[in-house]
Amino acid sequence: MFKKILIANRGEIACRVIKTARKMGIATVAIYSEADADAVHVDMADEAVAIGPAPASQSYLAADRIIAACKETGAEAVHPGYGFLSENADFCERLEAEGIVFIGPKPKAIRAMGDKITSKKIAAEAGVSTVPGHMGLIEDAEHATKIAAEIGYPVMIKASAGGGGKGMRIAWNDAEAREGFERSRSEAASSFGDDRIFIEKFIEEPRHIEIQVLADAFGNCVYLGERECSIQRRNQKIVEEAPSPFLDEATRSAMGEQAVALAKAVDYQSAGTVEFIVDRNRNFFFLEMNTRLQVEHPVTELVTGLDLVEQMIRIAAGEKLGLAQADVKFTGWAIESRIYAEDPTRNFLPSIGRLKRYRPPEEGQGGDIVVRNDTGVAEGSEISMFYDPMIAKLCTWAPDRIKAINAMSEALDRFVLDGIEHNIPFLSALMRHPRWREGRLSTGFIAEEYPDGFSVSPPDGEERILFCAAALAVELVRGKRLDRLPGRLGPPSGDFRREWVVKLHEDYVAVQVVRGAVSVPLELELAVEGAGPVTVASSWRPGEPIWQGQINGNPVAIQIRPVLNGVRLSRKGRAATLHVLSPRVAELDRLMPARRVADSSKKLLCPMPGLVISIGVKEGQEVKAGEVLAVVEAMKMENVLRAERDCTIAAVNAAPGDSLAVDAVIMEFA
Ligand code: ADP
Ligand code: ADP
Ligand code: MG
Repeated sequence: MFKKILIANRGEIACRVIKTARKMGIATVAIYSEADADAVHVDMADEAVAIGPAPASQSYLAADRIIAACKETGAEAVHPGYGFLSENADFCERLEAEGIVFIGPKPKAIRAMGDKITSKKIAAEAGVSTVPGHMGLIEDAEHATKIAAEIGYPVMIKASAGGGGKGMRIAWNDAEAREGFERSRSEAASSFGDDRIFIEKFIEEPRHIEIQVLADAFGNCVYLGERECSIQRRNQKIVEEAPSPFLDEATRSAMGEQAVALAKAVDYQSAGTVEFIVDRNRNFFFLEMNTRLQVEHPVTELVTGLDLVEQMIRIAAGEKLGLAQADVKFTGWAIESRIYAEDPTRNFLPSIGRLKRYRPPEEGQGGDIVVRNDTGVAEGSEISMFYDPMIAKLCTWAPDRIKAINAMSEALDRFVLDGIEHNIPFLSALMRHPRWREGRLSTGFIAEEYPDGFSVSPPDGEERILFCAAALAVELVRGKRLDRLPGRLGPPSGDFRREWVVKLHEDYVAVQVVRGAVSVPLELELAVEGAGPVTVASSWRPGEPIWQGQINGNPVAIQIRPVLNGVRLSRKGRAATLHVLSPRVAELDRLMPARRVADSSKKLLCPMPGLVISIGVKEGQEVKAGEVLAVVEAMKMENVLRAERDCTIAAVNAAPGDSLAVDAVIMEFA
């Protein structure tokens, strides 16, 4: 076994690998860029080597420097994590030449599977079912329409070198095929330095289901079941689970056997993932093979009890697989939520900044629930524009799917994150979405269920009563503390107002304290307008970001943030701003004119921080709905901004090459 390994990565995956290495008694070396000098993975490793400036090309992708770091520290092997150099065959070869072990597959397998066109051909030869399409390159936009017509619309236009959901477009007709080809090609050239494009059938009502394989250097190969990753935005996964609610035993083993056949066809060794797209009739088609540890590997670990990183390390050290197919057993259900620094209400666009508060829920087993949080950040960490905006991977395990979903919902309610926009409101709303709970999934889920984009809904019914009760409980405790501040006249009398009005957005709800006193812990009986008696108990203290307690005897966790004269409460994807008023103030408040929101309908605002690639119109030009106004690049994705309705351009305020902040006015309409 190795004595020391280097982890050629950062963030949560570097931390994840270090944990297992430590458990195995292997010393670890971290590498870090200038942006990561204070990162968690640097602290966690036994040693750390500074590797270069923030841009990945000069640090986490700089093979020379990484090899030098191995030599300097005496690391015998390198774990690449995912992304960066994990699927780079040249890097493996260079390590091999230096006598350093790459903890992953051999260069030949990486090369064969690294290119989508080549891998599709190899898969077809190995008897794996592939997506119908054209097995060759597309030369130009006209060729794209010709091939698309042969395959039959809809089609998927894809970059052969693609990854991370980039360089991919659906087309339903010739015009979209032409435009999709151009966009994919230019995205592929800028993201992967390789603009080869191919076209395959777009599988309708698709579900993304993938098989985890594990193979050693002695020809042994097993599959560790599947993961379903159908909840995606921009063709990128956000929520994954194991097993899939869709597969039956026969489909599962057919997919597993094909995945093993493909792994064997390329002499695969290490952990790898064969991705399939599955249609509504459970026909499955090979998409690609990822020759690395996958982001969502924890859900497989939770249902199999295996440590995939440990398996990878043992295989790389030359050990035989310790298990046969018959030894692979699955228990329970696991779900992973990727917590991203992104704004779900703005089309999931990335957000950057400092994590002012980062307090994940407690990990470990409680009853028949397991909570696991893989992360590489800490309070005060910076989410920078240089790297992936993933903050953490929150996983829950339970004996069955609904219990695992409920556990996720509760864990999300107890996750405190401040300083950046994040997708917890979306994840929380998803956990209570009936279609998700029934497991009726497709990769189009988000587009179908949130056609106008996701927005946080205000609480209704029972939840509304719960929000009002919690807001009053919070304000009473806060008010009592203010009473005790020095300098106030006279000792607090112990009396307090019992009649209140809770304003929830535009609604006024009368709430009366029927029984109890203001103290910590608090125990009150309330009469809420429109509901019967409500009991509230909590030991919340001012300043705590989560209000935890019991309402009508049920445990409740609510995120709470102070706002001007009120509180912002959120839970389970619902949120509201509440103000607790005396009846007299409420009466006056009703007479106050509401503030009007500025009208932005006559402006094209930049939806995210990004770089203007092109402006499609001129001042004075008349445009039709759907015409391209501008193309803005952010996170290496080209975003086409179109006219929402027919209009005339009054002014153009940006030019290609401009770097814009979110909400910058790109142009104005007449
Ligand atoms: P997974 O399939 O494991 O969920 P993702 O597709 O989410 O992986 O990608 C994992 C990470 O690797 C992301 O940071 C993604 O941007 C990056 N990545 C994957 N493939 C490539 C590639 N070909 N080029 C650049 N980055 C990639
Ligand atoms: P990447 O390397 O970027 O991960 P994949 O080929 O794995 O690219 O595709 C990513 C996602 O795009 C899939 O999970 C699926 O949602 C969608 N997708 C890709 N190809 C097809 C297809 N032919 N039909 C339907 N959806 C597809
Ligand atoms: Mg993929």
